[in-house]
Amino acid sequence: MNKIQFDINEIGENGLHFKSEQPPAFLSDIGDSLNSIENIVFDSNVRIDANIYKDERQIVLNGSLNLSYISPCSRCLIDVALKLNSDLKLILVPDSKDEDEYENDTVVSSYSGNTIDITDYLTEMVSISLPVKILCDEACKGLCPDCGADLNTDICSCKQDRVSPEFAVLKNYKN
Ligand SMILES: [Zn+2]
Ligand SMILES: [Zn+2]
Repeated sequence: MNKIQFDINEIGENGLHFKSEQPPAFLSDIGDSLNSIENIVFDSNVRIDANIYKDERQIVLNGSLNLSYISPCSRCLIDVALKLNSDLKLILVPDSKDEDEYENDTVVSSYSGNTIDITDYLTEMVSISLPVKILCDEACKGLCPDCGADLNTDICSCKQDRVSPEFAVLKNYKN
């Protein structure tokens, strides 16, 4: 498994421009964090572009992560091609420092030694940036639950026969 990391000593006075491009497989074997998303196919390289600065107190990483992926519409199951652009903002503090003094909306992580591995942070960012529900269109009509016809393109005759739940209750009373 690829690790995405940099060495603190590479961060000069003007910072470090960090670029990395990883094959899609980088995300398929990252373990637990993406297992909840089914049927997703990452079909581009994962591009990471970031500027990294350091002072006595902390290391700050600002950048972006881009990739494209394909996932079925959750209503009609047609494949939808999507892009993911995620902003990266990570503050790294030495192990000894207190992480609580930072604002809640910033990801703060601690490090020790000279090599900083941001693999877990990046995969986590992909994981939380993916939409919970993927739709080909907000107005997607989905599939007919009875015959499976794609109601965006087909007209099926099931609807005429369908009895609404409230009506079904009334019908039972009558009998
Ligand atoms: Zn759809
Ligand atoms: Zn139907």
